Amino acid sequence: MISTNLEISKKIDSFNEILDSSPHLNCVVSNFSQKIKSEICSSEQSIKKGSLYGKTIAIKNNINIKNVKIDCSSKILQNYISPYNATVIDRIEEEGGLILCTTNMDEFAMGSSTEYSIHGPTLNWHGDNMVAGGSSGGSAVAVSSGMVDLALGSDTGGSVRQPASFCGVYGLKPTYGRVSRYGLTAFASSFDQIGVFSRKINDMQKLFFTISGHDKKDSTSSKNKLQPFDYNEKKVKSMKIGLPYRLDQFKHLSKDVLECYNKTVNFLKKSGFEIVQLDMDSLKYAVSAYYILTTAEASSNLARFDGIRYGERSVNSDIDSIYFDSKTDGFGEEVKRRIIIGTYVLSSGYYDQFYSKAQKVRKIIKTDFDKAFSSVDMLFLPTCPELPYELGKKKGDPLSMYLSDIFTVPMNLSGIPAISVPLGLSDKKLPIGMQFASNNFEENKLFSICRFLSENNRTII
Ligand code: GLN
Repeated sequence: MISTNLEISKKIDSFNEILDSSPHLNCVVSNFSQKIKSEICSSEQSIKKGSLYGKTIAIKNNINIKNVKIDCSSKILQNYISPYNATVIDRIEEEGGLILCTTNMDEFAMGSSTEYSIHGPTLNWHGDNMVAGGSSGGSAVAVSSGMVDLALGSDTGGSVRQPASFCGVYGLKPTYGRVSRYGLTAFASSFDQIGVFSRKINDMQKLFFTISGHDKKDSTSSKNKLQPFDYNEKKVKSMKIGLPYRLDQFKHLSKDVLECYNKTVNFLKKSGFEIVQLDMDSLKYAVSAYYILTTAEASSNLARFDGIRYGERSVNSDIDSIYFDSKTDGFGEEVKRRIIIGTYVLSSGYYDQFYSKAQKVRKIIKTDFDKAFSSVDMLFLPTCPELPYELGKKKGDPLSMYLSDIFTVPMNLSGIPAISVPLGLSDKKLPIGMQFASNNFEENKLFSICRFLSENNRTII
């Protein structure tokens, strides 16, 4: 428990020590910790004694902070200084949280490894020359290396949970609408949700409760009331857990992931949980539907970055060349690939064949989740089929990168909350995360199971 501003300044010094001693991690984009430290030193009153008092926090480079460069790790926004705060930033500041830096990410949050960044790749704290996962890799590493207590990321198809799994920390994607998206740079608006990284489940709850709740600046934010968290081990154990996948049918699943999954299932059974196998056949279409719908939304959301309304403008005399060159020079390869796919699936000849079919699949998946939650409290599954891999291994193979999102995208298609829990280490000491998902607005069930696992020494942190 932090009690004085002196202790807080020491925490800020330790942030800078880790940062300076590990430049290869490349997880921080803008560091404003010294400014925060001098404000703290100049006045004992400068930090509010709210629920986040003394907590150090990192913010993904796509969440707007007033007067800070928020470039979404892209070239097209390299000179963009945000004129306003996202709602989550205002709420953190009101509760005394200390925002020390912004963190590296895949350009516009498109990717699974934090290799597609204008600032260069972020490396994993565990293992040599290994990717951190993505797209919120910088936030995951800032937390796993101990630089900060907490971090925010964004999760459109797994970008909080997958890097959390690769880096050995907790990563939560809340229910769609639970946290205001005002000030989060949009990738695919009907999927995007701001999420939280932490090393401790208590810290995560504090940040989650701070940023959640209705915001009149975001019409998709929900008015659903937050229920107070109340932990009772007996109640937790009475929860029924469903297994949505039959993992023995997966050809490309790492043996370490499978082992960790089986061990956890056995532990839960032994502890008295009722576990049931479910049949959720529609989930096999989730990756295809996700990549059709999110690229469609992205192609529309990113149209504003044209050098005229937003973004760096190329030097040209005629309007067509300005549009053409600003986008050609300003966007990286992965973002261009998504814009092209998105424009294609929305084009009049293919709309029915791809876009409207994918919408139907989304609906079927949602219905299947509703059905599952009529008989179980939670779902249990891996976060990712694989372990962190070497830098560069998948960068030239986008399809293989897309397929690794198999276990995370179903939750964004249906809006339900899910958390990645650090539950294992491979033979080579690389972290393995497993996922729990619950019904809409039931994040407290996820916190309860995490607390149970942590109290029973199942987590690796
Ligand atoms: N890996 C997924 C993608 O590239 C998820 C991205 C995200 O959640 N922002 O689309």
